[in-house]
Amino acid sequence: MLPVLLPIACQGLGEGYFVSQLKHLKEHYTLDINCVFKADKLIGFSLAYQCTIEGALCDYGLNVSSYAEWDRQVYVLKSMVIEESYQRRGYGTELMKSALNKAKANQLDAIILVGWKSVKGTNIEHLMDDFGFEVICEIQDFWHAESIINQYQCPVCGNPCNCTAIIYSKELKM
Ligand SMILES: [Zn+2]
Repeated sequence: MLPVLLPIACQGLGEGYFVSQLKHLKEHYTLDINCVFKADKLIGFSLAYQCTIEGALCDYGLNVSSYAEWDRQVYVLKSMVIEESYQRRGYGTELMKSALNKAKANQLDAIILVGWKSVKGTNIEHLMDDFGFEVICEIQDFWHAESIINQYQCPVCGNPCNCTAIIYSKELKM
């Protein structure tokens, strides 16, 4: 399954990033991979896992001591990629709906994901507005140091990456 995802992952997320992230995640979480097909051709996927809010935010280097409910269970939608020629046709919406259904079915408290803001704008802003996500925080130059050390090629900036990470969440239990 995973080698099939690689070409799309590298195009959408940047060479090197996906492989190293995947290795780290597989050691800590049970991964939930959801694929999108168009006429038997794989055109996109999402990768998610379930953990506590503390685990999710620690992975982004955030201090969670201000969160009273650090043990709430959340669904982290880590990556969501649609092949470039199939973008803006509703496939992202389809993946988001599946993720929300999965998170609700598992009775999780919230869903969390990260958007990337560059000079070109924020990649998933429309989707976040459509689904009513809120911004938890923004982290400037999120990959800057790591992209230099690990030679990540950001699809927008190249190397080094100067993107801002925007962490979004949506409450599932009101
Ligand atoms: Zn970047």
